Amino acid sequence: MTPKSRNAFRPKILIVDDIAANRFALRQLLKSIDAELIEAESGEEALFKAIEIKNLALILLDVQMPVMDGYEAAELLREEEQTQHIPIIFITAVHRDEQHILKGYSSGAIDYITKPVQPDILAAKISLFMELWRLRFGLEQEIITRSTLEDKNKFLADHDILTNLPNRRRLFLEIERATARADREGKEFALLFVDIDGFKSINDSLGHKIGDCVLIEMADRFTRLVRKTDTVARFGGDEFVILLTDVDDSQHLIGRINQILLSARKLIIIEHEEISLSASIGVCVYPAQLSDPSKLVDFADIAMYKSKQNGKNTFSFFSEEMDAAAHKRLAVEKQLRHAIKNDEFEVHYQPIIDAATERPIGVEALLRWNNPTLGSIPPDYFIPIAESTGHIHEIGAWVFEQSIMAITEITSKLPLNLNVAVNASTLQFKNSTWFKTVQKAIKAKKILPENLEIEITESLLLDDCEEVNQQLSAIHELGIRFSVDDFGTGYSALSYLKRCPINTVKIDRSFVQGIPEDKEDMVLIHAIIAMAHGLNLKVIAEGIETPEQWLFLKQENCDFAQGYYFSKPLPINELKLWLSDNS
Ligand code: C2E
Ligand code: CA
Ligand code: CA
Repeated sequence: MTPKSRNAFRPKILIVDDIAANRFALRQLLKSIDAELIEAESGEEALFKAIEIKNLALILLDVQMPVMDGYEAAELLREEEQTQHIPIIFITAVHRDEQHILKGYSSGAIDYITKPVQPDILAAKISLFMELWRLRFGLEQEIITRSTLEDKNKFLADHDILTNLPNRRRLFLEIERATARADREGKEFALLFVDIDGFKSINDSLGHKIGDCVLIEMADRFTRLVRKTDTVARFGGDEFVILLTDVDDSQHLIGRINQILLSARKLIIIEHEEISLSASIGVCVYPAQLSDPSKLVDFADIAMYKSKQNGKNTFSFFSEEMDAAAHKRLAVEKQLRHAIKNDEFEVHYQPIIDAATERPIGVEALLRWNNPTLGSIPPDYFIPIAESTGHIHEIGAWVFEQSIMAITEITSKLPLNLNVAVNASTLQFKNSTWFKTVQKAIKAKKILPENLEIEITESLLLDDCEEVNQQLSAIHELGIRFSVDDFGTGYSALSYLKRCPINTVKIDRSFVQGIPEDKEDMVLIHAIIAMAHGLNLKVIAEGIETPEQWLFLKQENCDFAQGYYFSKPLPINELKLWLSDNS
């Protein structure tokens, strides 16, 4: 036994007496007892020490002390959780009458010894208490050791010893749990089968010890990337299974899978060895791709083999469609980086008609992308990707410059006062690139601010962010107008219309398409126009395709119109022709 653990088994006795000579006398009497003796000279000090000191087996408490007497101290000791079970023996010079004894016992004394103390009686009593303490202490220790052993066994039963990650057994329990949760809440989760590429050669060339370190490092990296509700399990050898919960957004899921791939690729340095690895991942989504949870791991494993066949260091989805969609997105992301430089973008312009004169008063600039390998990609698809990669700032500035150049060119040749409306995504208001481009163009008089309109979404106006509000006001101060795009599809809180510098609302195409069959759509259009006019705002209806729709909107006093009925979005040269025919 080490000195420290021996000490832990040695009981302590607290001697409480206000008179030093009495404490000294007790010390002498207890010399033969195997216990550590501690002294306190008041009731208060006794309380303090009783709480502080561990392994206190007994308190010898003098009854007569100034300030706090023994009875009071005993009562307080009984109230404290840490001290209520420590036996107390009262030592008293008070005459041994019934009443005093009773008071002593009711304050929590276990025994009573009167002064002058009989050495034999004292030693015998105290030895007994020490024996009792040792028995109890031993029992407590036994319980503690057993329960930590039990915890440890429980942990080992469902964890991997090397990485401390959940093992297969635990993984299947977690899959059951995730399935129940997904079913209950109508959510999805993804199961990733992750296999380390080239791990075998590390084991063969550098030895198992380094191989083990690599696995521990990978386990660590993966664990750091997931959320609390997710699971990273070691499936066996160099295979891990990662359970990602709440993955309803597939773009977000792909982002997370890419992070895992990236983390596996980062250099590992162990004992001066530089190790460079990668991972192949197979993905199965529950319940989108597979409704039988017991097959999830097998199917993710099959998908993982697809990744191996495709040259490793990549992911594959179990379902063909999802796989195609995910890889298309990645390809788009890659091609988008060079689209401006490679001159793959073009801006088309869709005329906007003044209802009063039935003549064009402006155009909306709409971006087109033609990529040599991917073909023509619709903006609805690539704009959100450009937003998530951050390219939207550069793209937005490019569209803006193209648009004002086009307007200048057209108005220099045709006797027309033409406005141009440019779409701006919310993100463009959170970075100054685009704003600076606009500001520069206005200052350089490349376009008059009154000929410019910026189309924003309702969500931007509800995004109560300092930066956004500042840019909105700054652009407004330049004299540029704003219109709210896709009006009616988003939020119901309309108070922002009064608060923000808005001039126009654009009734969404989905309402216009309801004319003339859908009476509800028509009631809504009527209400939107009335409300907008009440707030002194102009109204544009977009997506007009038929003469009936146009007639209805004119009757409702809609101010401007846009749609295939008048013209599709056109490249600049075709627009020029259209304008000279229709102005
Ligand atoms: P949006 O701003 O609501 O643009 C109107 C969309 O409706 C355009 O689709 C247009 O071609 C289409 N459209 C116009 N009239 C009709 C019609 O009569 N019938 C039908 N079925 N469709 C009509 P497009 O060009 O595919 O653009 C889609 C969306 O992409 C735009 O919706 C806009 O949100 C976004 N977008 C386009 N260019 C840009 C851009 O330069 N910057 C940003 N941030 N977003 C852009
Ligand atoms: Ca628009
Ligand atoms: Ca729109």
